[in-house]
Amino acid sequence: MYCPFCKAQETKVIDSRLVAEGAQVRRRRECLSCNERFTTFETAELVMPRVVKQDGTRQPFDEQKLRAGIQRSLEKRPVSIERIEASIDRIKHRLRATGERELKSMTLGEAVMDELRELDEVAYVRFASVYRSFQDLNEFKAEIDRLSTQAQKEP
Ligand SMILES: [Zn+2]
Repeated sequence: MYCPFCKAQETKVIDSRLVAEGAQVRRRRECLSCNERFTTFETAELVMPRVVKQDGTRQPFDEQKLRAGIQRSLEKRPVSIERIEASIDRIKHRLRATGERELKSMTLGEAVMDELRELDEVAYVRFASVYRSFQDLNEFKAEIDRLSTQAQKEP
């Protein structure tokens, strides 16, 4: 940790405490060269796994892209921003919980579909039709059949 005043490398921690309900550590440090004091905040960083696409290329996880895809599927559907954000959080948690550093894009796609199925079936079908278009037509057709049968049963 460089001293922000004189750039010396040697600093010592003189106080350390948990803040933000334990999510951060606040440290008071003193520079051994110029004796100036300063404060640092440390937060544990939860790294998202990288996404391996079907052609084998790797991409960093892109939350904005995920959000855009979900919002596109939910266009003009009666689902609140809060529920969308909660879904995105669950997807991120699920990906992190695998403990893997890399995940197939299919795993991400399945996680999104699971969430959309809960949020809104129209959005789910929209997403699945784009996502699964050339991947598994039979499975997709079975899903549509299942949904329409379900819709018929509803009063
Ligand atoms: Zn210094």
